[in-house]
Amino acid sequence: MTRIGILALQGDVIEHAAALRRAGASPSEVKTPAELATVDALIIPGGESTTVMKLLERVGLTAPIVQRVRAGMPLWGTCMGMIVAAREIAGVDQPSLGLIDITVRRNAFGRQNESAEVELQIAALGGKPFPGIFIRAPWIERCGPAVELLAERDGRGVMVREGNVLATSFHPELTADSRVHRYFLDMIRSEAGNKSSAA
Ligand code: GLN
Repeated sequence: MTRIGILALQGDVIEHAAALRRAGASPSEVKTPAELATVDALIIPGGESTTVMKLLERVGLTAPIVQRVRAGMPLWGTCMGMIVAAREIAGVDQPSLGLIDITVRRNAFGRQNESAEVELQIAALGGKPFPGIFIRAPWIERCGPAVELLAERDGRGVMVREGNVLATSFHPELTADSRVHRYFLDMIRSEAGNKSSAA
């Protein structure tokens, strides 16, 4: 069975674990390099990106995560996780892991709109709109040539994929709709298929 890790240094870990179970997967928490070594895929949840970048350094997870993802481990970042995974963060001098070729802007949807539920059209998930929950969410200002834009809100990118890396500005773990979690599980299966056919 595929083991999916959730980075559990800070943020909405429990909600992702529950959503993964609803989608039929078995999640485990990742707080150390040893725990990272036991999982086949990783989710970086919502939280506070500056705090988590510092904690990643402190526990020695920065380099191992970058290494595993570059070697093909599927990664999904939600909200803060998207910021941490991005190549660039606009307007601030803040480090990130550079695992997906996008530029994001933090807290971009504006003060009056700090938290919102927006119906998103996501062709990759079928015709039914997806309830996008945005909480002090980033938007995507630039996508590299290999990045697939999967959803927009008000003309701004909010869901993207580049190979084995998925990123969403919104929080699918806070809804009862499991389609994004199932999309990620399919990514993991196809990544595993690529590996075994290459072997
Ligand atoms: N505003 C947070 C940040 O910049 C992200 C918010 C979230 O993950 N819900 O890190």
